[in-house]
Amino acid sequence: MSKFKIQEKIKDNQHILYLNGKIDEDSDFSILNLKQQQIIIFNLEGVTGINSCGIREWINLMKAIPANSKVYFVKCDRAMIDQANMIEGFFPPNSFVKSFFIPYYCEHCDEQSNILCERKSEADKNPAYTQTSSCKNCQKDAEIDIIETKYFKFLKKN
Ligand SMILES: [Zn+2]
Repeated sequence: MSKFKIQEKIKDNQHILYLNGKIDEDSDFSILNLKQQQIIIFNLEGVTGINSCGIREWINLMKAIPANSKVYFVKCDRAMIDQANMIEGFFPPNSFVKSFFIPYYCEHCDEQSNILCERKSEADKNPAYTQTSSCKNCQKDAEIDIIETKYFKFLKKN
């Protein structure tokens, strides 16, 4: 597995961060200065996992974000959604999950896939999704691979 990487882009009043790899004890967030821009956008598509040390680093980073900033999370992988559903403050109060992946599993060919779910606005607590999706491998029906009431818990807060 490749080493954890962060790419940054600053555009107008937005600070955009692309995270890649597994978040663990070697993930160095101290290099980040998130105090300059009003809007902070985390693109989490490349996050492949997070361990307990990584969770601690992540929460410290979230605490360092000024309360008057607006934080957006886009393309959140299941690894991050699962933690947000379990850990208070994993996504800070001033944040909004704009889009996230819903896992599907195809029992016909054993293929796992993720479908991106986009929310229209922060008021959108029930974003549209389907119980099945066409498997990209065999085109048969892949079933949703989460317990919905548990997985969508984070929507109430973030
Ligand atoms: Zn399939």
